[in-house]
Amino acid sequence: MASKKITNATHGISTVAVQAGEAHQKPGHSITDPIFCASTFTFSDTDAIIRFIEEKEEREEYGRYGNPGEKVAERKLAALEGSEDAILYSSGMAAMVGLVMTKLNAGDEVVFFDECYHRSREFCAKHMSRFGVITRQVKACDYDAMEAAINDKTKLLISESPTNPHLSIIDLDRFAAIGKKHGVETLIDATLATPYNLKPINHGVDYVLHSATKYLAGHNDLLAGVIAGSTEQLEPVRKLRGIMGAVNSAHNIYLLLRGLKTFSLRMQQHNKSGLAVAQFLETHPRVEKVYYPGLESHKYYDVAQKTMSGFGGLITFLVKDADWRATANIVDAVTIPRIAPSLGGVESLIEQPLVMSYYECSPEDRARFGIQDNMIRLAVGIEDTDDLIEDLKQALEA
Ligand SMILES: *Cc1c(COP(=O)(O)O)cnc(C)c1O
Repeated sequence: MASKKITNATHGISTVAVQAGEAHQKPGHSITDPIFCASTFTFSDTDAIIRFIEEKEEREEYGRYGNPGEKVAERKLAALEGSEDAILYSSGMAAMVGLVMTKLNAGDEVVFFDECYHRSREFCAKHMSRFGVITRQVKACDYDAMEAAINDKTKLLISESPTNPHLSIIDLDRFAAIGKKHGVETLIDATLATPYNLKPINHGVDYVLHSATKYLAGHNDLLAGVIAGSTEQLEPVRKLRGIMGAVNSAHNIYLLLRGLKTFSLRMQQHNKSGLAVAQFLETHPRVEKVYYPGLESHKYYDVAQKTMSGFGGLITFLVKDADWRATANIVDAVTIPRIAPSLGGVESLIEQPLVMSYYECSPEDRARFGIQDNMIRLAVGIEDTDDLIEDLKQALEA
């Protein structure tokens, strides 16, 4: 029996995460999608090749261009995002590189909101510049500055929402409208929000990028990336991916699909625990400031309320009257969160941005990027909220 197509317009997000993109009946009558360990796919005869090419028959040809498991993951991710199409990559950065390389030519310009994953900025500013692409950075959430930075060479506007590590929230209607007004495409890296909490496509944004390494896969056990958007706009991006070769192994895809089954349940816990831990930190006397979009004290609380259905597990906070070493001592004193970069997995992670990602950065650049010595970034996992709060309390009071 054929199943009714499962989309985010007709079904809830848990149903989409578990069921969308999959065939109702699968090879071998297996409930799970098989792992297709194949670098290449065979044709029965010469006519089959011609049918595939001339009639654009839906099937695989060679592993770099696609794999049946990858197609399932892409359909599921598109259904979660509410987009027409999605392209899977071997990492979030591969997705960013794939899109930027497809869309920008020598002489073109890209405008960034400046609070962002440092490697995205580095790729454009340091590497695309070698190919004649100009990167302009403007202050996050300064829409007038973004508009002023646009000229007739501008081809792409890029932002994260929430931004990393300050958790600023973009007014997506405004951001998309600036792009539309000037005929410039827009990209939101919504890794920190996930499609559970934010749907940039509904606001008119052209492309949504995720490091699927984080919440989508959710288990700190793989790297993957995805770009969602319209089939037409993504067509050249998909073609370049087939040439770049930044694709996932069949086993990696299986792990991603398995992780996605519990996506909605995990997000419920990240959202609930993230808010409770942020509220606890905000009331603790050793904490100077907490950045979390679900707190009323957050600079963009109103925009967050308007655009997001939850605020995730990432919390950034400043320790009161602490130098970098006193701050490091708190990181070292927690017992449940592990010290590591990344976020979005079932295990909580903690880091001091100064040491983890910005150690080799000059003090001037750190000031420019708003990275303070007393800053801690906590990625709340799905452990019991009370245990995490108790652990943070003892670390702050040690
Ligand atoms: C981790 C991250 C990336 C990069 O993704 P990888 O999967 O590590 O390549 C990009 N953007 C954001 C916001 C991230 O957190």
